[in-house]
Amino acid sequence: MELETKNIVKPGEHVSLDDYVPGYTGSYTKKGQTKRRLKKLHKQLLKLQELLYAENQRALLIILQGMDTCGKDGTIRKVMAGINVQGCDVVSFKVPSVDELSRDFLWRAHRAAPPKGKIGIFNRSHYEDVLVVRVHDLVPAPVWGQRYQQINDFEKMLVENGTVVLKFFLHISKEEQKARLESRISDPTKHWKITEADIRERAYWDDYMQAYETVLQECSTDWAPWHIVPADKKWYRNLVITECIVDTLRKLGMRYPEPTADVAKFTIDD
Ligand code: ADP
Repeated sequence: MELETKNIVKPGEHVSLDDYVPGYTGSYTKKGQTKRRLKKLHKQLLKLQELLYAENQRALLIILQGMDTCGKDGTIRKVMAGINVQGCDVVSFKVPSVDELSRDFLWRAHRAAPPKGKIGIFNRSHYEDVLVVRVHDLVPAPVWGQRYQQINDFEKMLVENGTVVLKFFLHISKEEQKARLESRISDPTKHWKITEADIRERAYWDDYMQAYETVLQECSTDWAPWHIVPADKKWYRNLVITECIVDTLRKLGMRYPEPTADVAKFTIDD
């Protein structure tokens, strides 16, 4: 079975999130149908990651954004299951510290960007500076308004310097968020996952959707396009993202580097 999601936003395309169905699962109807494919993809991902590391010419930056409970943590756990943790760094973007606030908003993102040979995952990212910041008026509109272009320029610079940038918006429905929040309330083992902020932010759902639509419209570029991932079904979300990462790495046409010595002449003592 094939994935049928047309989830890449074309540069300049008008985006209305109502046009994207969060519960979409293509021709799949249940998790069991995706298991074999996911297992195969994980094996390929492991090999490709090794190649990325061995080649040491490029980096892969994966950016995960979405509403609370959209599954950023689960994606990191499941999609990256089986890869070599030594070659991967996960960075979570929280409320900026005093030190971070005293710099330009891209400073912490640039610092956290992966070095050549590695995969970096941003759990939230510099996009918070045009999302939560816009929704809550944390800086004046002219300040956040110029950030879309600044983000595009920043990402272009990363790409031109050998980093592949993959951006995923994990699209869940408001109903699915309600169910996930309720399960965090009813299950004592999930209480640690819920905060008052989660409840508070839900009230701003429509504002966030608008802010996300602007991000998807303004910052989906040829060099770093946005992918809208149907995320109500976790198993489909994992499949879409893993497939996209594997495809992207495969298309790089990476090669193992030439040996630095005449390996054929090496002998190993008993
Ligand atoms: P998460 O929800 O990602 O699991 P937290 O519950 O710690 O992690 O939430 C992190 C919070 O930090 C989010 O509410 C997010 O909006 C906020 N945040 C991240 N970046 C910024 C920023 N640049 N300015 C203000 N708040 C931010």
